[in-house]
Amino acid sequence: MTVQGNLTYVRQEVERACRRVNRSIDEITLVAVTKTVGIEKTNKVLQAGLVHLGENRNEGLLQKYEYFGNKATWHFIGSLQSRKVKEIVNEIDYLHSLDRLSLAKEIQKRAMKPIRCFVQIKTSEEESKQGLNIEETVEFICSLQQFDKIEVVGLMTMAPYTDDEMQIRSCFQMLRKLQKQVQDLNLSHAPCTELSMGMSNDYTIAIEEGATFIRLGTILVGKE
Ligand SMILES: *Cc1c(COP(=O)(O)O)cnc(C)c1O
Repeated sequence: MTVQGNLTYVRQEVERACRRVNRSIDEITLVAVTKTVGIEKTNKVLQAGLVHLGENRNEGLLQKYEYFGNKATWHFIGSLQSRKVKEIVNEIDYLHSLDRLSLAKEIQKRAMKPIRCFVQIKTSEEESKQGLNIEETVEFICSLQQFDKIEVVGLMTMAPYTDDEMQIRSCFQMLRKLQKQVQDLNLSHAPCTELSMGMSNDYTIAIEEGATFIRLGTILVGKE
């Protein structure tokens, strides 16, 4: 299947999910995760009209940034080591994986403009999943006020990889509930209007539960 063909399918599914819960498709930003593909396939993604690209490693991000520059909006979606912040922080537009104070401090030190950040939350018990525990979130976000290079645009989570729809749905619901809690604090540095949730296997559920950014890799670009 071509990227364009995949995209046509995904758009239909996004539309259907939106319709089920009375949302407008304009509320959803599709981030094409190009971490497993090269320049050529990434170019196809851009040609198909997608501009938001997601990468999870510095090398991949920089390789593609060098090639496409500001033709794309760049999302860093992987875990980021503090010592590697300086390599990419001024290339990216969004960071989806802010999960600790040491990382925030390093961003503050290295960024030349405010970075739009999602605070990553662990909403399941799966060992491999990164992120803050729910109970730590509000305090963490409050403590980010001291950093003028960090704008908390929203929360991000990854649901476990499972066929159990209820389990996935409950992760997304937890994230939305937490978002409401943060929004109620009315923090100028943390408007927290966005929810980054939903991947190839669960994006329609995520949309039903309020996602505004979905991060799609396999279903759009396949695997190389
Ligand atoms: C790889 C990745 C995705 C995309 O995963 P697919 O299942 O291929 O859609 C989304 N989010 C994060 C954080 C990822 O690492």
